[in-house]
Amino acid sequence: MRILVNERGAERLLSRHLWVFRRDVLSGPDEPGLFPVYWGKRFLALALYNPQSDLTVRAYRFRPAHDPAQALLENLERALLRRQEALEREPQGGFRLAHAEGDFLPGLVVDYYGGHIVVQATAHAWEALLPEVAARLRPLAQSVLAKHDAKARALEGLPLYVRPLWGQVPERAVVQEGRVRYLVDLQEGQKTGAYLDQRDNRILMEGYRGERALDVFSYAGGFGLHLALGFREVVSVDSSAEALKRAEENARLNGLPLKTVEANAFDYLRELERAGERFDLIVLDPPAFAKGRKDLERAYRAYKEVNLRAIKLLKEGGLLASASCSHHLTEALFYQMLTEAAQDAHRALRVVERRGQGWDHPILLTHPETHYLKFALLEVL
Ligand code: SAH
Repeated sequence: MRILVNERGAERLLSRHLWVFRRDVLSGPDEPGLFPVYWGKRFLALALYNPQSDLTVRAYRFRPAHDPAQALLENLERALLRRQEALEREPQGGFRLAHAEGDFLPGLVVDYYGGHIVVQATAHAWEALLPEVAARLRPLAQSVLAKHDAKARALEGLPLYVRPLWGQVPERAVVQEGRVRYLVDLQEGQKTGAYLDQRDNRILMEGYRGERALDVFSYAGGFGLHLALGFREVVSVDSSAEALKRAEENARLNGLPLKTVEANAFDYLRELERAGERFDLIVLDPPAFAKGRKDLERAYRAYKEVNLRAIKLLKEGGLLASASCSHHLTEALFYQMLTEAAQDAHRALRVVERRGQGWDHPILLTHPETHYLKFALLEVL
């Protein structure tokens, strides 16, 4: 059984993009699974296939293999090997062990939280392989949880559930990150529990000192905890009361002071401006405002607005740490947005560091969807 794609589908795979959408699939098996992809008689790739999904073909290997499942699990092996040293060095740390397409493991995310693993598979063909995946992960952790509650699964025709694949899954795990520790709600948190992609950027905050810092879109305290080591006052802002409750617990766990404000960031920044407040450092880590290409224009304006407001709130020489996790807002557009925000605020922005997602979230240049996080540290002048 094989998948046949048209010329456009073939061009994508030949250029080493991993996806072929349904419109470019000529024929294929009736059931989801792992199959070879052909353009006429030419072998192109091995792929995870789901005829029910618009994202029908997700390639994971560009050479044939006798056992397609084994070949896919070898990619997992390679991904784990790349993290091995970090896990040995920091068993209490938090790392992404598998970054889906970035590790040639389409639709599979595996996150490690201080001895506990959370798996999230959003491509149909993984479902049958879960026992093998769990067996491979077992020696690395005390528990392995399938957190299969992502909406993307429904689009694939997969059931939604959260269930242990191995071991006793505690309600929470404790992760050491730089000089702070934080709790991860394994069963109920956002995504797989935390945002590991910003780990190194959060640790970067430990190098700064000052009077007042503001952490906007704080989730469970992430950046704020690190800032509280060096700033006299740190305020965490989020619209989720749940997230802020966690932020307060995390602050107590570290014996660090953290003020929390439950508010819509757009309104709150405007209020601070009206009140004439000023800060030495502001972090902006908004959710993906652009979910698709269609809402990019609206999203661009939203990013620009929060950045413009933050720039106005910063003291001369203050630091803006600004991020975007929308893949659709490219790096070029991200810096254009920051430039326009600075121009409108009549302030100059000097680049201190241009950064992105952590090393354990690898980027494939030929599959740009794997590059989503931009992070800029800027000095406001
Ligand atoms: N900085 C965090 C991750 C942030 S995730 C970390 O490093 O862990 C984005 C957060 O933005 C979520 O917690 C979400 O609840 C919050 N959020 C979304 N829309 C918001 C809004 N309009 N105002 C304030 N917070 C918002």
